[in-house]
Amino acid sequence: MRPAILNPLFAEITARRGIGPQLAKGLARLGINRVKDALFHLPTGRIDRHRVSNVDDATVGQGVIVPLTAQAYHSGRSPRAPFRVDAFDPAGNHVAITYFGRAQGMARKALPIGEQRLVVGRLDRYGDMLQIVHPDQVQEMARAADVRERESIYPLTEGLTNARMAGIAADALSSVPDLPEWIEPGWLAQKGWPGWKGALARAHADAGDQQARDRLAYDELFAGQLALLLVRQSARQRRGRPIVGDNSLRDRLALPFALTGAQQRAIRDIDGDMAQTAPMLRLLQGDVGSGKTLVALMALLSAVEAGAQGAFLAPTEILARQHYDGLRRLLTGLPVEVALLTGRDKGKGREATLMGLADGSIHILVGTHAIFQEAVTYRNLGLVVVDEQHKFGVAQRLMLTEKGRTPPHVLAMTATPIPRTLTLAAYGEMEESRLDELPPGRTPIDTRVVSAERIAQVIEGLARHLEAGHRAYWVCPLVEESEKGDSAAAEERAAMLRLRFGDTVGLVHGRMKGPDRDVVMDEFKAGRKNLLVATTVIEVGVDVPEASLMIIESAERFGLAQLHQLRGRVGRGTAASTCLLIRADSIGETARARLALMRETNDGFRIAEEDLRLRGGGEVLGTRQSGDASFALATPEQVDRLITPARDDARLLLDRDGGLAGERGNAARVALYLFERDAGVALLRGG
Ligand code: ADP
Ligand code: MG
Repeated sequence: MRPAILNPLFAEITARRGIGPQLAKGLARLGINRVKDALFHLPTGRIDRHRVSNVDDATVGQGVIVPLTAQAYHSGRSPRAPFRVDAFDPAGNHVAITYFGRAQGMARKALPIGEQRLVVGRLDRYGDMLQIVHPDQVQEMARAADVRERESIYPLTEGLTNARMAGIAADALSSVPDLPEWIEPGWLAQKGWPGWKGALARAHADAGDQQARDRLAYDELFAGQLALLLVRQSARQRRGRPIVGDNSLRDRLALPFALTGAQQRAIRDIDGDMAQTAPMLRLLQGDVGSGKTLVALMALLSAVEAGAQGAFLAPTEILARQHYDGLRRLLTGLPVEVALLTGRDKGKGREATLMGLADGSIHILVGTHAIFQEAVTYRNLGLVVVDEQHKFGVAQRLMLTEKGRTPPHVLAMTATPIPRTLTLAAYGEMEESRLDELPPGRTPIDTRVVSAERIAQVIEGLARHLEAGHRAYWVCPLVEESEKGDSAAAEERAAMLRLRFGDTVGLVHGRMKGPDRDVVMDEFKAGRKNLLVATTVIEVGVDVPEASLMIIESAERFGLAQLHQLRGRVGRGTAASTCLLIRADSIGETARARLALMRETNDGFRIAEEDLRLRGGGEVLGTRQSGDASFALATPEQVDRLITPARDDARLLLDRDGGLAGERGNAARVALYLFERDAGVALLRGG
């Protein structure tokens, strides 16, 4: 149960005065649904204004609050010409107040001839005239108190003015309770940080207040680290079971190739971990195509050899099915029963799978997160493999360790290289293996950037490629915040390409039903379709070695790590592969540099580092997609600087200060709930 003291912060934002449905929509676009979200929506800048009685006391270029009286209006000849109000201050100085666009009516109303008003804005010089362009505010003299000398600048969205946002933030701040201190007192004193409530007020009052911002970021990191430590602690208390295979299955596996050295090293690491009582928690990092699946299979076989079951978790249905098919092919003739379970499996088939899991006749289950639903019970789950780990949220990761009486060993895999501080922040301490060696015989992918103006040429090139009997992907633009938009764009593009290429064009997108998607994927794999138009549903894992051309539309809208993943869909066979990044006709310098980097390198680690630098941590971890806002407050720079002390502090609380039991422990519990890391609390109680 959430501590009652936090209730005002978790109240819906619409419960506050003056926030109607229209405004709530705008706020929701900014991720503000509850009072707490408004508090965490921090300003990015600040304006300072000087209150003067006339402009003689002001400096050009400064923000001012000055009384002015309108004397005459000048509207331009066309409706779009600027509208000017000639006004005078009490000392008789002339100031022009200028409006662009169709603001005339509003300006006349705000500044009636002959009446004095407080005008708030930046004082500029235009020729030898003083002017204020588009005042921030025009206020009646009697309401001077409503004019603020300092104003924080907030990130906004359509229909939300800065003044309104500032008002909402101020209102939210007024509902903030005094919370007990959870930071270790010595550390707090050393940093000289304010208390939590004070830090919030300061961060809103002054975007440049580094002390206040650091404190808030630290709190978030501290809560995250504490939750992860609690989870680990509870997993350790419930000791796992050691797994040692006898190679009886591995030896019978007929692989068409030899394992790379990196694969062999990773398998050794994993075998060593699984032989221990402490449950394994290992991250297997390896660039796209480095052969992680095979490493996972070896680990699964060792579990089966030891009489345990294995689960293989994939982030999408497409990927789950592909892994299922792939594993079954490799395991042909071996006494290993593999089953598939996704959210769409219903009825008898599902019942049979559940039975098989419960009685142990199914050895390996492949599926989406459906494999961890409550109804799914395993006879003896020994190992969980999580593919594309970064696609899963914290809550889902925790669920894994909760299945079965003894916690299973966990092997997490990711193709997105993650800098160490970020791994630590997102997953806590994990062992790591790297596949830093690609299987031999790969041809490097030739990446080119073309402007959208030349799309006709791209289509000609595509035609030649298809005529030569090769296959290709066409990935459609990402439409912000709307899965619908993505799908619609893909449908349109597919329709257009069908006019040219007929019904060899397949289409998959996120709004299609699973079985329909499978049909198309199968046709593409079998070569009955040779051009696959898709949204980013094909981003991870899809493996069709015959496809050797990847076209990505509006490439500038994708994250670099994402582009790298998409590009990794080709270059899997022996044919030379090409990736065409189509960009908008005009793009900015940064966008240009990012695409140039894609052209320059195939090195996933380098790309991930750049992506981190250019777009921030959440992007690299893919947390935006999974809806798991790991960091509402902490910036990548702050994560880097503060994650280690936050972890040490959390550990100190558990090892020295009595965990969640003592006074500080109670405060820390509040922090866990505040940052919605309460799964940690639940585990501790349950364990
Ligand atoms: P990823 O790391 O991206 O998940 P996969 O496991 O999908 O990579 O492997 C990519 C391709 O490489 C697959 O077709 C797989 O069969 C093949 N492969 C894996 N290991 C080797 C190896 N040692 N030698 C040759 N091909 C391999
Ligand atoms: Mg993979």
